[in-house]
Amino acid sequence: MAAITNCSGKVVIVGAGIGGVTLAALLSSVGIECNIYEQRMTLSKDGFGLNIQPEAVSVLYRLGLAEKLDSCGIQTRAHRYVDHLGTTLFEEARGIDAGFDIPQISISRSELLNLIFTIAKTKATFNFDVKFSTDFLYKTQWAKDLIVGADGINSVVRQTLFPDSMQLNSGGMMLWRGITPMPKLLDGQTMIIANSGEGVRLIAYPVSKAHDLRGESLINWVILVPMSLDKQFDTIINRFQATDFLLKLIKEWHFDWLNLQTLITSSKTLMRTAMVDRKPLNKWSHNQCVLIGDAAHPMFPIGANGATQSIIDAETLSSTICESPDFESAIAKYEHVRIPAVSKIVMANREMNSRELASQALNQQERIRELVITATNYKAETTRTNSD
Ligand SMILES: Cc1cc2nc3c(=O)[nH]c(=O)nc-3n(C[C@H](O)[C@H](O)[C@H](O)COP(=O)(O)OP(=O)(O)OC[C@H]3O[C@@H](n4cnc5c(N)ncnc54)[C@H](O)[C@@H]3O)c2cc1C
Repeated sequence: MAAITNCSGKVVIVGAGIGGVTLAALLSSVGIECNIYEQRMTLSKDGFGLNIQPEAVSVLYRLGLAEKLDSCGIQTRAHRYVDHLGTTLFEEARGIDAGFDIPQISISRSELLNLIFTIAKTKATFNFDVKFSTDFLYKTQWAKDLIVGADGINSVVRQTLFPDSMQLNSGGMMLWRGITPMPKLLDGQTMIIANSGEGVRLIAYPVSKAHDLRGESLINWVILVPMSLDKQFDTIINRFQATDFLLKLIKEWHFDWLNLQTLITSSKTLMRTAMVDRKPLNKWSHNQCVLIGDAAHPMFPIGANGATQSIIDAETLSSTICESPDFESAIAKYEHVRIPAVSKIVMANREMNSRELASQALNQQERIRELVITATNYKAETTRTNSD
């Protein structure tokens, strides 16, 4: 198929994560040549669950993935905030139930990546086991090409373009992730956000339609632990001690509708990372090299927005490439739309983190009020409108 763009040269994408593979799929669908380089030997099978907001699900639907997404992922109906005894404090409707035409989808990261890859690989050229370095970026063979850094939070492309922008900002929490098959969680379509007085938080949601059809839930969960409490981890050496540490943190918690002990001890795998972001940049490009996704705007992973924004970046960039006479103008239009929109979300995630932590000192009534305000403000700041 002939390329539907006036830009000469091809698109070189660094990183086959959600953003990079979505961009490759979108460009392939309009006949634009693209080469994608990934440091891993194969498409990543790692990772737990992701939430994709309706604005990004609509991009995936347009790629022809509606049926497959529906048969793999869960249409999330609500976010329910509960206390440490499982009592509902507040419930926020999501996706279709919140009035969108398209659902919010919770899905395993590797399943989603594979679905998008099936579209991208038909036309894009994938090169695995190639780790991009700064030297690669200056290869003369790519002088006419657009280079897209979709290489995630530790982006080499960003480091090369903006070496002074790599300082991490800590959210003061460690994130413990797990994924556990369990009896069905509530209606099978609800995300749980639970808090305790010490600042420990649990986020849990089902991610697999196959489990749902069997009357179960494959629950993706994250326990957020304040750094001050997580220090005890320094002396932990094995998985048994790690689960023991997590169980002690929530020993006063009890939900009638979810066995927390089983959730933590029966996880297939455990992962611990720090909650970090970076200060928003006012430029994501230099010459014909541009950033998308976490490379451009890492954010605290608490607003269910990281993967969503990388998909919307990919959609915006592919559209501006199609509409523009050259790559420079495509980049300029892309930055004009996306930098203010996503910078707002990075800051909204910080604000939500601080407010949720502060709300734990409040009494029940004040806390419910605060949760409603926080959720409403976050939605207003982060939902894409037609004018964005
Ligand atoms: C393995 C993995 C597991 C994850 N699991 C979760 C999860 O369970 N829950 C969650 O909320 N978020 C998870 N994330 C983060 C989440 O995918 C991103 O926040 C979001 O999807 C934005 O994606 P992205 O495409 O910008 O970056 P990423 O999804 O991080 O993808 C970046 C890709 O670039 C590749 N790469 C990096 N450096 C180079 C290089 N120098 N040369 C070539 N390739 C390079 C990486 O291997 C990776 O495949 C995970 C990320 C990764 C990489």
